[in-house]
Amino acid sequence: MSGGRSFGIVALLCLLAGAVQAGLKSSPVPPGPVFPVFTGPAQVHAACDEGIEAANAAVKDLEKRPGGKGWLRAYDDINALFEDKAGAIYLLSHVHPEKAIRDATEACERRWQDFSTTLAQNETLYRAAKATTPADAIDRQFLKTTLEAFEDAGVSLPAVPRARAKAILDRINELSQTFDKNIRDAATLLPFADAELAGVPEAVWKNNKRDGQGRVLLGLDSPSYTPVMQDATSAATRERMWRAKTDEGGAPNLKLLAEIGQLRLEYARLFGARSYADFLLKRRMAGTPEAADRFLSDVHAAVQAREKSEVEELRAAKAQHLGTPLAATRIERWDVSFYTERVKRARYSVDQNAFKPYFPPQQSLALVMRIIEKTMGVRYELMPENKPWHREVQTWVVSEAAGGKPIATLYVDLYPREGKYNHAAVWSFRGGSIATGRVPQAALVVNFDRAGLTLDELETLLHEFGHAVHSNLSATRYSSQAGTSTLRDFVEAPSQMLEEWVYSRAVLDLMQEVCPGCKRVPDELLAQAVKARHYGKGIRYARQNLYAAFDLGLHTAEAPEPMALWARMEGATPLGHVPGTMFPAGFSHVAGGYAASYYGYLWSEVIAADLRTAFAKDKLSPTVGKRYRQIVLGNGGQLPPDVLLRQFLGRETNAKAFFAELKP
Ligand SMILES: [Zn+2]
Repeated sequence: MSGGRSFGIVALLCLLAGAVQAGLKSSPVPPGPVFPVFTGPAQVHAACDEGIEAANAAVKDLEKRPGGKGWLRAYDDINALFEDKAGAIYLLSHVHPEKAIRDATEACERRWQDFSTTLAQNETLYRAAKATTPADAIDRQFLKTTLEAFEDAGVSLPAVPRARAKAILDRINELSQTFDKNIRDAATLLPFADAELAGVPEAVWKNNKRDGQGRVLLGLDSPSYTPVMQDATSAATRERMWRAKTDEGGAPNLKLLAEIGQLRLEYARLFGARSYADFLLKRRMAGTPEAADRFLSDVHAAVQAREKSEVEELRAAKAQHLGTPLAATRIERWDVSFYTERVKRARYSVDQNAFKPYFPPQQSLALVMRIIEKTMGVRYELMPENKPWHREVQTWVVSEAAGGKPIATLYVDLYPREGKYNHAAVWSFRGGSIATGRVPQAALVVNFDRAGLTLDELETLLHEFGHAVHSNLSATRYSSQAGTSTLRDFVEAPSQMLEEWVYSRAVLDLMQEVCPGCKRVPDELLAQAVKARHYGKGIRYARQNLYAAFDLGLHTAEAPEPMALWARMEGATPLGHVPGTMFPAGFSHVAGGYAASYYGYLWSEVIAADLRTAFAKDKLSPTVGKRYRQIVLGNGGQLPPDVLLRQFLGRETNAKAFFAELKP
C-alpha cells in the first residue's frame, strides 16, 4: 500500500513468499528451506496457525528492544520469518492444481494480511525505529523506507482514523483477492466448430476437449487466445474470443473496482492527501501525479501520429482482404492483431508461428539461462527430483560459476493447466541477505504452448527471467530490500531491458550451445523479424499509455466510476470503445498492487532503453554484465534507483534513447 516497504504483499509480479517446514524427501536439496508440500487444506491451516503464532512471538520479542544498534537487523529478521512462513502460501494460491488448497492458502493469505497491517501500525516498533541511527547509506535507506511504511500505514494517526486505516487496508486486500479469484476461477471455455477456427494452427486446438455437439473448447489462456486473435480468418470467431477476454471478471468485478477506488480515496484523505495518486507517488521516482501525467502526455505526443497511420494501414489491409471499399471499412478491436500479423507477413514476410520449431519451451528456458550464465558469471542446474507443487514444476539451483557456491533457487512452471494463474509472472517469495547468508528463492510462472515459442513469447520469457534474475542475484544486506523489493516505477526496467535481446543473432546462437540438435533460426527469418519489430509500436504504446492514464484517472480526487471513465477514455481513441464491453473488470493490476502505478511500465521503459545503451556494443559482454549484476541487480532496493543508474551508466539517466526508439 505504501511506497515504503511494508510487510504488505502485492500480487502479480513479485510476491514475498518463502517456505514452511514440512518433511520432504528429495536429493540433492536446493539451498534454503524446502518448499512446503500440502496434501490437504488441514495441513495449510495448521501451517498457517503455526506460522502466525511464531511471527507474533517474534514481534513480541522485538518490542522489548528499544531501538538503536542492531535494531534494523532484528527488524529484518521479522521480514525473513514472515517470508519463510507466508511466502509459499501467497504463491500457492495462484498455482496449486487443487482448488481446495488454493482456497485454503487464500484464507491463510488474508490472515497474513491482517498480521501485516497490524504490524505496520505497531507504535512500539515505530518508536524504536525512530530511536535508531543509521550507520551508513544502506542503513539510512532501510530506515527511511521502514519509517515511511509505518507512517503510510497510519501509525501516527489518532486512534479513530488509525483504526479506520487498518479496516480500509484489510477490506481492499479482501476485495482485490476476490477480484483475482473471479478471473482465475471463471474457467471460461468457448465452443467453436472446426470451420470457425479456419486459419488457426491445428496444433492449438486439434487435441482439445469438445462439447456434446462436437465443438472444440478453447480457454482464454494465451496459448489459445493469441493464435485465435492473430490467425482466425473469421471475424466472428475473433470477436467472440475478444469479447470474452475483454469481459473477464464480469460485472461483479466492476463493482469491486469502484469500491476499491472509493476506499483508496478515503484512505488518502485520512493522511490529508488530495488523492490516492498524490498519497502514493510521493514515494516513487515520479514524485507526483502531475509528473507522471506529464510523462504520459509526452509519450502520447510521440506515438499519436504513428498510431493513426498504423490504424489506417490496417484498414487498407482489411479492405483489400475482404474486397470492401476503403471508405466503408472499419477496424474493430478484434481486427488489430489479425491484420497487424497480415501486414507483417505481407510486408516483412514474418510469421510469428514460423519461430515455433526453433524454440521448444524447455530449450528456450535453457537458452535464456545461458544468456545470464555467459554475462553474469553464474550457473543454472536442474534438480530433477524436486517438483514442489506440480509434477511439471522444475527446481533450478543458481551457483557462482567460479567456486560453485549455491546462491539461489528458482522454480519454473511452464505450461497452462486448469485453475493456474493464466498470465506470466514471477513471485520473488524469499529475499536473500548477505548479512545472514540467506539465499533467495523465486518462482517463474508462464503458460507456453508445448509445441514451441513464437519470438514474442521468447520475449515474454526473457522479460520474466529479468525479474527472476533480479531475485536470484540479489546481494543486499537486508532481506527486506532484496532484488525486486525496489520502487515500482523502476522494477520493470531490468526485465524490459532484456526483451530486445531476442533480436540479436549472437544471443539466439546460444541455442546451439544448449541444444546442439536444435536447428538454427534462419538468417532471413530473423532479419525480417528485426525489420518488423517496430511495426505496431504506435498502437501498442498508445494502448499502454491509455491503461496508465486510466489508472491515474481512477485515483484522482474524484475517484470516478471505473466503467464510465474507461468508456470515455477508450472512446476518445482512434479505435473507440465497444459498447457493452467491460475491460476494467479484468484489469487486476489496478485492483491490486499496481494501483496508481501502472504508468511505471512506461516509466521504466525509459530506464530500460537507457540501460541498453551500456550493452550497445555487445549484449553478451561479461564485463558489462558483471558490473550490471553487481550495481543494478545486486543492490536491489538498498540504494535509490537514480543512484544505481548513475553508478552503472557513469552519468545521470535520461530519456534520449527511449524517445529516439519511438521516432517513426
Ligand atoms: Zn514484469
